[in-house]
Amino acid sequence: MATTSQQPHYDVIVGGAGPAGIAAAIAASRAGASVALIEPQNALGGVWTSGLLSLILDSGNKPGIMDEIRSHLRQRSAIADHRDLYDAEAMKIVLDEMCEAAGIDILLHSKISEAVVTEASITHVILECKEGRRSLSAHCFIDCTGDGDLAARAGCDFDLGRDEDGLTQPLSLMALLAGVPKHIREQKGKGTASCLPKLAFLDMLRESGFEPSYRHPSLFSLPNGLCALMANHQYEFSSLTSADLTKATLQARREINHTVEAMRRMPGGWDQVQLVSTAAQIGIREGRRIHGLYRITLEDVISGARHPDAIARCTYGIDVHSPSLKEGGSISNPENVRSLPYDIPLRALIARDCENLLMAGRCISGDFDAHSSYRVTGNAVATGEAAGTAAALCADRKRSPKELPFEDVLNQLQKLRGERVPCVPI
Ligand SMILES: Cc1cc2nc3c(=O)[nH]c(=O)nc-3n(C[C@H](O)[C@H](O)[C@H](O)COP(=O)(O)OP(=O)(O)OC[C@H]3O[C@@H](n4cnc5c(N)ncnc54)[C@H](O)[C@@H]3O)c2cc1C
Repeated sequence: MATTSQQPHYDVIVGGAGPAGIAAAIAASRAGASVALIEPQNALGGVWTSGLLSLILDSGNKPGIMDEIRSHLRQRSAIADHRDLYDAEAMKIVLDEMCEAAGIDILLHSKISEAVVTEASITHVILECKEGRRSLSAHCFIDCTGDGDLAARAGCDFDLGRDEDGLTQPLSLMALLAGVPKHIREQKGKGTASCLPKLAFLDMLRESGFEPSYRHPSLFSLPNGLCALMANHQYEFSSLTSADLTKATLQARREINHTVEAMRRMPGGWDQVQLVSTAAQIGIREGRRIHGLYRITLEDVISGARHPDAIARCTYGIDVHSPSLKEGGSISNPENVRSLPYDIPLRALIARDCENLLMAGRCISGDFDAHSSYRVTGNAVATGEAAGTAAALCADRKRSPKELPFEDVLNQLQKLRGERVPCVPI
């Protein structure tokens, strides 16, 4: 990092340290860039840690940073053998260590509130920090805020929710439970990561006099002996206002407490169940989808689109949680789509309306249905890794992401991942 008289200057600033942000920062730093990673919560990992997600999806075909994280968790016996169910506390320390080892300037307890733009390029971002407002400048920026906050502040256009009514998928607050009967914890879900089949769990809760707002309640058995509970859907709230996030969080926490009380009434040894913790951050499935040079579409998912600038292949299908309760309260595939593995092109990570901005994670460029598929965290890591690699090259060559030959990014990614891109057989 260089410091001018006004403010610290970096090659790359990454906004948001979720699965996409940590990967973007590590990739950029390993490629030789000076990197700042900005995160409002007290831990790296986003929905993995502050959100207590507990399950990594679409990670099996993701070498590089995703594979490294899984391997570090394995060394700590903090990830299950049969599914990528992990211990969120172990994930925090793994990510701390990886980011520190990469030499990243980590700034927790700090939020990007403004982007200052001159001639379609971001010159610096304004952070809300404990000590007050700070400004940081960089050659290249990566929006990994999930909700696309940085891009929106920079004036980039975006889509939000469904085309027909603007509704987004619901929010869910995750929780950790102790005292789930051992024979349930030891069950391996068939076709699902939930150790208790979701519809059986729903029936048991109903028999205990409780109707969960998520009609496919799930219970994940974790390597640390605890279980993660996902049984609530907070419908028709925006992830873009503090007022809505507050209402949704209070509603969800109340519901989780009622759910746990109902679980204790379930027959068969459930009376010892205890609520250990609710997540620090409510889980947001969907925020802004920033316009990029390419928009991933439902047609891409159906046809298994291939691209010359593919940086990852998504193998996870359409997964839309009902945007409103009257649509069933569970998961649907509105178009009854059979998806094929499809490529995520680098162009979907390059902001259309800004000269020095990339996106990674759930805010990349795509339509509502495609987003429901690529949003899962294995893909967030892969997009972060690619965006970080591209940003470091841009800083080194003093170029815009739009001017960078994609072959150079793919070659650099290949070195980082040790495999050809996008790393699974065509
Ligand atoms: C309840 C729920 C269940 C899910 N289930 C699964 C699952 O089982 N497996 C799976 O793989 N995926 C699952 N997903 C999807 C997945 O969690 C997300 O799509 C994924 O987190 C995307 O990663 P990300 O890094 O883009 O975003 P996030 O994990 O949301 O990270 C964004 C980060 O940016 C930070 N941030 C926000 N605003 C700012 C700002 N203004 N300035 C700086 N930083 C900011 C946030 O604090 C956060 O740390 C689920 C999502 C939810 C909500």
